Amino acid sequence: MPSIRPLPDLLISQIAAGEVVDRPASALKELLENSVDAGSTEISAQLADGGIRQIRIADNGCGIARDELVLALARHATSKIASLEDLERVGSLGFRGEALASLAAVSHFTLSSRERGSAHAWKIESSGGSMAAEPEPAALAAGSVVEATDLYFNTPARRKFLRSAQTEYAHSEEAFKRAALSRPDIQFALSHNGRPQWLLHAAAEAERIRAVLGDEFAAASLPVDVDSAGFRLHGLAAQPAYSRSSRDAQFFFVNGRFVRDKVLAHAVREAYHDVLHHERHSAYVLFLDMDPALVDANVHPTKIEVRFRDSRSVHQFVFHALEKALSASRAGATTAHSPAPAAGAFRADGAYARQSGIGFPAAEPVPFYAAMFGQAQAAADVVAPERPPAPLPAGEEHPLGFALAQLSGVYVLSQNRHGLVVVDMHAAHERIVYEKLKLALDDEGIPTQQLLIPATMHASALEVATASENPATLARLGFELAVIAPNALAVRSVPMSLAQADAAQLARDVLAEIAEFGGSRVLAERQNEMLSTMACHAAVRANRALTQPEMNALLREMEITERSGQCNHGRPTWFQVTMGELDKMFMRGK
Ligand code: ADP
Ligand code: MG
Repeated sequence: MPSIRPLPDLLISQIAAGEVVDRPASALKELLENSVDAGSTEISAQLADGGIRQIRIADNGCGIARDELVLALARHATSKIASLEDLERVGSLGFRGEALASLAAVSHFTLSSRERGSAHAWKIESSGGSMAAEPEPAALAAGSVVEATDLYFNTPARRKFLRSAQTEYAHSEEAFKRAALSRPDIQFALSHNGRPQWLLHAAAEAERIRAVLGDEFAAASLPVDVDSAGFRLHGLAAQPAYSRSSRDAQFFFVNGRFVRDKVLAHAVREAYHDVLHHERHSAYVLFLDMDPALVDANVHPTKIEVRFRDSRSVHQFVFHALEKALSASRAGATTAHSPAPAAGAFRADGAYARQSGIGFPAAEPVPFYAAMFGQAQAAADVVAPERPPAPLPAGEEHPLGFALAQLSGVYVLSQNRHGLVVVDMHAAHERIVYEKLKLALDDEGIPTQQLLIPATMHASALEVATASENPATLARLGFELAVIAPNALAVRSVPMSLAQADAAQLARDVLAEIAEFGGSRVLAERQNEMLSTMACHAAVRANRALTQPEMNALLREMEITERSGQCNHGRPTWFQVTMGELDKMFMRGK
């Protein structure tokens, strides 16, 4: 083997470029973030050929001093953090000091800047990572201009991964919208091949959202603004009746950063579940503000993922805040939402008992997980969702017992040797489907089922591009999609075990994940997220009446499914109330 030696700096930056600026849209994102971090009030971006030929960003921010221009292009050089403490509560969008170095390593790059209060502007040039020795004087009134031309001209392998200019533009426009939504107080402009595409004046939050997502969305949306326990959730969420032709209207920001996060996505899905009929698409622009020390943004080079220190409380807060906002659109919401006194083993939420009672599915949808999360505190002595269920004795034939009844279309009640078993049927079913998918994917790939009649769907340019670029990944996940028009796809096959689910919606979720993370990452490290999203679609919804044999079949499946004590999102799927506990409640034998 050749001897071990450190990689040259340029090569390190070129490797980093593969992660941080893997396509023009990511470069655009990084540059927009730099301009935002610089305190700009006006930012304009010009792209040529989707950004492949050129990306040019001009801002009116604080600028960079002449002596720091060279440093700005150096790897791991940043003005934004200086210590571990800074990192742990970072307030800026950037902090890794990688973007400019990476971009300069893979393009013809110019950075011109005029520090506020300085008499002149200066510029520094770099071509494929070889930098001019000294900054030169430049003409610029204020702020900074960054120009990256001929992206990846010196890294042909990376260049090969680029798609058509049109596709790259679709990705770039998405990055632009995210930046614009996150900061309504800043003016943003975008042009493509010399043609103006967007001009967004500084505005109030709701106005900016309307400008980006359109009047129709704004008219159908409810304002969200809930502040509690150190969290604030604000923005607009479309009423359930508003159906969007694609999933392109789902934006979630944490402390101003656009993120895709499983915990948040799930909380939103659950908040919509009770009110979203016919599996329509939710559409929303939501901002979660919280103590930066409680969320780690340094999980992924592009910072699209975050890690919450206490994801359970984040889930609980987001779910409740959104559910509350959406309930304004629901008739008779007051009874379903009046907090119930926690009494008895199931915290029998007054609303459930009044509305339906045992066995009869509620006519009005009831808040599915309200009991699970809402009054968890008061009921902790009985439910203890954090504690794993007590292990069942080995050798028992049917540890989860036999079904007695269904409660409020949500829980299956079952009797076993120890007493009563309460099963959250949606969570349990989701876990079963998830484990099946996981086994199949680890094995040969997910078995697919051809649809007799392909499901056609409206699709955004990004969805169409993603579908045509990733047939192999989609096939492994059990999908076959065909492009039938520039804005339409046909779903020809879906995973066999999900044949009952809404094919178009399933496909959209999968496409969104692939567009964001790339096919190979989705199959590798994002696999579990992907599968749990798919499973969530397929799982039985609340308020579905199950027959006795169906309930028993669910119990049997749970027994043989690995890890079925926890649902995909870490919630318990069932728990036991022993005869002893019941006796105690009724003060028997005292
Ligand atoms: P990071 O944003 O992680 O600090 P970058 O490589 O993106 O790293 O930028 C390096 C440094 O260059 C930043 O920390 C900042 O000081 C400076 N900089 C980059 N872009 C701008 C800009 N548009 N205006 C002012 N300063 C900038
Ligand atoms: Mg940066």
